[in-house]
Amino acid sequence: MDNALTFADVAAAQDLLAGHLPATPMWSYPALDAVAGATVYVKHENVQPVGAFKVRGGLTLLAGLPAEQRERGLVTYSTGNHAQSIAYASAIFGAPCTVVMPLTASAEKVRALRALGATAVLHGPDLAAAQRHAEQLATAADALLVSPGDTAALLAGVGTLYVEIFTARPDLDAVVVPVGSGTGAAAACLVAAKLAPHCRVVAVQSAASRAAYDSWRAGTCVERPNRTRVDGLATGRGFALPQQLMRTGLTDFHLVDDEQIGAAQQLLASHAHTLAEGAGAAALAAVLARPDTFAGQRVAVVCTGGNASAAEIAALGG
Ligand SMILES: *Cc1c(COP(=O)(O)O)cnc(C)c1O
Repeated sequence: MDNALTFADVAAAQDLLAGHLPATPMWSYPALDAVAGATVYVKHENVQPVGAFKVRGGLTLLAGLPAEQRERGLVTYSTGNHAQSIAYASAIFGAPCTVVMPLTASAEKVRALRALGATAVLHGPDLAAAQRHAEQLATAADALLVSPGDTAALLAGVGTLYVEIFTARPDLDAVVVPVGSGTGAAAACLVAAKLAPHCRVVAVQSAASRAAYDSWRAGTCVERPNRTRVDGLATGRGFALPQQLMRTGLTDFHLVDDEQIGAAQQLLASHAHTLAEGAGAAALAAVLARPDTFAGQRVAVVCTGGNASAAEIAALGG
């Protein structure tokens, strides 16, 4: 299904996932609406197993693999939720899973991965070095190397989140999606074009890691410094497959800074009793940063994840 990913792939993923994941809730909170000056629907991917929307992609990928491919196992590279998604799905489908993480990965994340039964390999100073090592391990073991951004099954799986959103609220004016590699935003474009063509799809990235934003603006994948503190949004390059879908489907792309994301994280805690990790609060941060753009409208913000670190939780008090 590479490069020709269609809505039919998302619909097939929905069937695959039906036995594994219930639909997540989407609520609005009057106190939050009052601050935002809009009707804000928070889509709660923070309540997924492993705490983030990516599990939809991991399960879809594993469910679609031939048995002999599962037996040979999977290798991927990540510092965060992508790794947990692949590890969770591999455990369910009985596939060996190896994740290469930079030496700087936090002890909590390594522990979470090992608890899911994955092999965590710590290698190199950054994600680019981890990626190169993962490629070597995959070749040596004849295992499947899983790119976090350019794997069509992952996009098809995360697209199911947008089917749920547009089925629940066909009347949305906009949906705001945080971007790292862009799988979520690309899937949102694909599903909106089919189910809610009048709904604007707005992406948001941290100004401190703007590779996806600049790739979208330039119309070609570029590399940029990767300095955000917000894990789920930390990427240093554009990914071809999601960029290709975003190029035609995205209405707009906004940047917010890490401080605005932190403020939105606090607001979700105080006004929506929701624990979001930074990336999970970025969509709300984008709405708050441009009140005129969203005033009086019905806007879905995807709370993509709830895996806040101990330091993030401590900072919620202000
Ligand atoms: C991965 C991730 C994102 C970014 O998603 P992409 O599909 O990589 O753009 C946003 N939020 C959270 C919580 C994530 O884990």
